[in-house]
Amino acid sequence: MNYEINETHDPSLVSWLDSANDPRTDFPLQNLPVCRFVHRNTLKIGVAIGDFLLDFEPYFDTFVASGQERKSIELAASHRVRRKIQEDFSANAPQSKINLIKEYFLVPIESCKFVLPFEIGDYTDFYCSIFHASNVGAMLRPDNPLFPNYKWLPIGYHGRASSIVISGTSIKRPKGQSRSDPSKPPQFVPCKNLDYEVEVGFFIGKGNNLGEPIPISEAEQHIFGLCIVNDWSARDIQAWEYQPLGPFLAKSFATTISPFVVTMEALAPFRCEAFRREPTDPQPLEYIYDERDQKRGGIDLNLEVYIRTQKMREKGLEPYLLSRSNMKDLYWTIAQMVAHHTSNGCNLRQGDLLATGTVSGREKHERGCLLELTWRGTEPLELPTGEMRRFLEDGDEIIMKGYCEREGFRRIGFGECRGIILPAD
Ligand code: CA
Repeated sequence: MNYEINETHDPSLVSWLDSANDPRTDFPLQNLPVCRFVHRNTLKIGVAIGDFLLDFEPYFDTFVASGQERKSIELAASHRVRRKIQEDFSANAPQSKINLIKEYFLVPIESCKFVLPFEIGDYTDFYCSIFHASNVGAMLRPDNPLFPNYKWLPIGYHGRASSIVISGTSIKRPKGQSRSDPSKPPQFVPCKNLDYEVEVGFFIGKGNNLGEPIPISEAEQHIFGLCIVNDWSARDIQAWEYQPLGPFLAKSFATTISPFVVTMEALAPFRCEAFRREPTDPQPLEYIYDERDQKRGGIDLNLEVYIRTQKMREKGLEPYLLSRSNMKDLYWTIAQMVAHHTSNGCNLRQGDLLATGTVSGREKHERGCLLELTWRGTEPLELPTGEMRRFLEDGDEIIMKGYCEREGFRRIGFGECRGIILPAD
């Protein structure tokens, strides 16, 4: 499964489905991300093409192979099905087939109710942006922003799988303990410093047995594909609870993911070298070092975060861009995260979600959360309505987008990861 660029990335592939050819679409024929959705009370597997979802199971039975084969999201994402869909949706497919597909197997995306692409058994969140870690560290420990372990291993913590929700789910402001005034006892109150974090998630496709670490050279073969993650964060709760074991209730109230999983194969043209370390930085230890991963382990994935407040909606204003960052600026690769995660023998299972941690870059406009953008609330942002934001207010909607672009290839996108903040109880 080590995908090289192949005929399925050919930029000249054109579809009879017009919306798949729109240069602005996230879902041209070269992408074909998979998802799960509910249609007429039935759970279905979908493949996104232009403005539509292909209803995978009946399509597969009709045009690929009817019979015993178990129709899974993995099958929908396989190379074989990818080629077949491209053939059946190409501009020179036979008209009779086009008519059948149009009539029976396409559902408009806007009419779909998405559900999580996998039953997520376990969720791990890393902390792989050295820019994010340095910024947050500088706020807490100006003299010593990075702990000595940062450049030696991908820092992570075990997150909560049960509260992962699909894009579009409203997020209720959590309550929790916080202590803003150290001279007084903590209070149990609605979170005052509610934040988002833009991250990239990746699903495990093939797990490993307990006690059998995944070598870094094989790590990507265990990764199914990528999505966008919003790791909602209650900063005031976090500041009080995090010592000494790290985040707990400040993170576990909700995590939102985008509905589409973009496959490793679709991402092949957008692979790049791993983050280039400073000459004074240590080289990774052998179990998380691989030549090929250094050359091609990065992913050139652009991420954008927008806000739309209640007032902006009332005035009919478009969402306002808060930041742009790129996954290629992460200090660790996804293969390093998988290899490190399993290096003690810990078993990953199919459907597990791993996330990179906040994706921030060097520049101010590349900061992937409000904590960094407003420097812990000390530099509030002014929105086009004149509203000021230190952290999120009730009614604010956060919209995250991701896309890959490279000269000579079709742009592919990730769809959206959205969530709106509701008041606390
Ligand atoms: Ca995070």
